[in-house]
Amino acid sequence: MRNQTFVIVGAGQAGAMAAATLRQQQFDGDIILIGKEYHAPYERPILSKEYLINPEEAPKYLFSEDFYLKNQIDLRIGQSVSQIVPSKHCVVLENGGELRYDKLLLAVGARARRFPLLDQLGENVYTLRTLDDAQRLRQAVKKDKRILIVGGGVIGLELAATSCELGANVTVIEQADNIMGRCAPPLLQDYLLNRHQENGVQFFLDTKIVSAQKQGSELVLILNTGEKVIGDIIIYGIGAEFRDQLAADAGLVTNGGIVIDSRCQTSEPDIFAAGDVCLQREPLTGDLQRRETWENANRQATIAAHAMMGLEPPQPGAPWFWTDQWGINIQMVGNMQAEEWHVQGDLQSDKAILFGTENEVLVGAVAINQGREMRNLRKLLANSTVVSV
Ligand SMILES: Cc1cc2nc3c(=O)[nH]c(=O)nc-3n(C[C@H](O)[C@H](O)[C@H](O)COP(=O)(O)OP(=O)(O)OC[C@H]3O[C@@H](n4cnc5c(N)ncnc54)[C@H](O)[C@@H]3O)c2cc1C
Repeated sequence: MRNQTFVIVGAGQAGAMAAATLRQQQFDGDIILIGKEYHAPYERPILSKEYLINPEEAPKYLFSEDFYLKNQIDLRIGQSVSQIVPSKHCVVLENGGELRYDKLLLAVGARARRFPLLDQLGENVYTLRTLDDAQRLRQAVKKDKRILIVGGGVIGLELAATSCELGANVTVIEQADNIMGRCAPPLLQDYLLNRHQENGVQFFLDTKIVSAQKQGSELVLILNTGEKVIGDIIIYGIGAEFRDQLAADAGLVTNGGIVIDSRCQTSEPDIFAAGDVCLQREPLTGDLQRRETWENANRQATIAAHAMMGLEPPQPGAPWFWTDQWGINIQMVGNMQAEEWHVQGDLQSDKAILFGTENEVLVGAVAINQGREMRNLRKLLANSTVVSV
């Protein structure tokens, strides 16, 4: 493959991992990794956790600068691809240049979904997706600040915990009737809600914002209940917008994300995609699944790199992700929509495993401060273990 050029658009988790995997698998052609941000690829998960709490904490880069040099990965940061021309096997850069590819990987991720009602307030309104966002938040979240967090998903809750730990007064407003609705079983939702409330976070659940105003230096939100909440800053995390426009404009099949098969191949045979931007077809059901997790970005990057080289991709295990809130490490593996959930251990002492079953077969599990059990839980899941209660 010496004369081949593989271009990767998006120098985030998936893009960088794909480049590294290509070299691990002895790809000896050219690799060009193009990233819009002015940073080498870095880890996003710490941005809502350690990075915010500890001003000494440095960004966590995926690889050292040396790594790109040694592995002859042509990392081009601060550059953006504005067009793909599949018929010519080339991408057009925003600065006007063109790059020819033999195989192309789209790992362009997502951006924070905008909430215009809040954006119109101007300053002191934040979202968190990038290192630059986190640097701004570091300056803003301070002791005794009143912080209104809009959205009770994983990022909103991590930010609620870190802001409280920094001494801020935190209120969370969530339109659903519980927190982490998209990705956690009800038992876990209730447990976490309790922990946040015990630590002083105030919640408005099942609540919508009907208007937002600025009164002097204060930000005022009027809720559909008629109540009024006042803060110094607002941080909102209401989901992501997936960057599939580039692919859609090039005629690739998209559906609110780039549609890929189990080998991460798009509807264009020489174009692959990986990470948050993807909707992957499940081999058994044909359903389109999106997983916005660190592990999924790595997993799809590895699969895509193999497929681009014509190698057999590794078989993925059950999907996994984690969150850290209030010093509690929570790891989730498998299906979080399981019909029934059973607790082993003691939620009161923050040490437990939740088993999710369907027809008594284990389909998902949550380890609360029990990370060491993950290997075992994965095995039990892979073996479709029957759980007798
Ligand atoms: C604050 C935060 C905390 C998180 N915590 C966790 C956690 O605890 N556990 C967990 O499992 N997951 C977590 N995640 C999710 C995880 O980080 C993401 O799933 C992962 O980063 C997705 O990787 P990606 O490569 O698909 O996208 P990204 O990492 O977003 O990378 C995409 C890159 O592509 C670039 N790009 C976009 N368009 C172009 C273009 N046209 N040209 C060039 N470059 C372009 C973007 O600028 C970006 O740098 C967290 C995410 C955030 C934001």
